[in-house]
Amino acid sequence: MVKQVAIIGGGIIGATDAFYLSFLQGNDNIQVTLFDDDTGQATKAASGIISPWLSKRRNKRWYALAKRGAELYPSLVSDAQLSNQAYQQTGTIVTRKNHDDLLALYQEAKIKEQHTTAMGRVELLDAKEVKRRMPLLTDAPEGVFVSGGARIDGGHFVSELLERAAANNLDVKNERVSLTANGAINTTAGPKHFDIVIIATGARMHESLQPLGLNVKVRPQKGQLIDLTVKMPHKWRNMPVMMPEGSSDVIPFNGGKLVIGATHENDEGFDLTPQPAARRQLLNNAKVFIKTLTDAQVSDMRVGTRAYTEDFAPFFGAVPTLPNFLIGGGLGSSGLTTGPMIGYLLAQAVFEREIDHWQDYTKPVSQYID
Ligand SMILES: Cc1cc2nc3c(=O)[nH]c(=O)nc-3n(C[C@H](O)[C@H](O)[C@H](O)COP(=O)(O)OP(=O)(O)OC[C@H]3O[C@@H](n4cnc5c(N)ncnc54)[C@H](O)[C@@H]3O)c2cc1C
Repeated sequence: MVKQVAIIGGGIIGATDAFYLSFLQGNDNIQVTLFDDDTGQATKAASGIISPWLSKRRNKRWYALAKRGAELYPSLVSDAQLSNQAYQQTGTIVTRKNHDDLLALYQEAKIKEQHTTAMGRVELLDAKEVKRRMPLLTDAPEGVFVSGGARIDGGHFVSELLERAAANNLDVKNERVSLTANGAINTTAGPKHFDIVIIATGARMHESLQPLGLNVKVRPQKGQLIDLTVKMPHKWRNMPVMMPEGSSDVIPFNGGKLVIGATHENDEGFDLTPQPAARRQLLNNAKVFIKTLTDAQVSDMRVGTRAYTEDFAPFFGAVPTLPNFLIGGGLGSSGLTTGPMIGYLLAQAVFEREIDHWQDYTKPVSQYID
């Protein structure tokens, strides 16, 4: 019998999950319906950097998940035949304000490089070399280059994944849905039961699970970034991305788009209004490295809502006492890196494949639910 699977939420977890359910062996026994209301989606608002290896975070489970996530990307991109616009391995330049700190970072990176294939090559670059590789910078800092780092455009990424899956066994419904107390999904066509329900509603996770009498401890955080239009000659193609310490990331895309982001506002709830002060702050951060930028070059401002748990760690797995309900969330500010791996593991769970080592990546889901 064909298994009916519902996914609520079409961000990076939901979209990756849908792709793998359409792609992995066993897909012909599965029909997937994905519900998404496209409101405040963090994934679409984000253009991001995939480069977890030099993060200052010391949470071991998070690092194991982020590292596996970064490793997964090249095969996911090739399996789903995603465009360079969605994902490209351009390399990452990480900076430190203090030269000695940069040297320490470089030593740490060289040690990790020996046993982390996905990192690629690690190099210490002086300011002149950074400027050569990122010619749009007027004031280049020194930095550590990691060739395996990548940039991603969240919106392109999820829409391309969903398009691939829709060519097979996925039906996308652009609507807001809710659960009923007995586990059905209230849709515009009436309540529907599914064999398995995957809940990937990001910052809305708390309200999604309330009808089941569950209180998920996830809070929203507003994030904003700006897109600028910049003249980039053809020979500037494939520039690396830069992660300056304590400032905004500088993410150039081929064709003249430059993204600067992102902000982190903890007290704005689900507000999605672009704020002039955030726009000014992001532009000023970028002007430290590219003096010539002007406000007139800002072509768009994107706003999304991230989801945070109390311990800032993502979580995923089956809902306690409801094994046919799977959830994944609390991705915070590194969800583009960890999200695809969660989508992949949740898909494996739908195929009833034994998943080793979940506990290496996440605490039990029960720790995040009252
Ligand atoms: C500005 C910004 C910059 C970022 N930069 C980076 C970065 O550089 N690197 C990185 O790794 N991460 C980054 N992140 C974080 C990352 O984008 C998020 O952690 C990740 O995308 C969250 O994915 P998700 O699938 O859990 O949730 P979302 O992407 O938020 O998706 C949830 C979806 O569920 C839908 N939904 C909710 N409730 C319902 C319902 N009842 N019915 C139907 N649909 C529903 C929503 O509309 C939404 O589309 C950034 C985030 C922001 C906002």
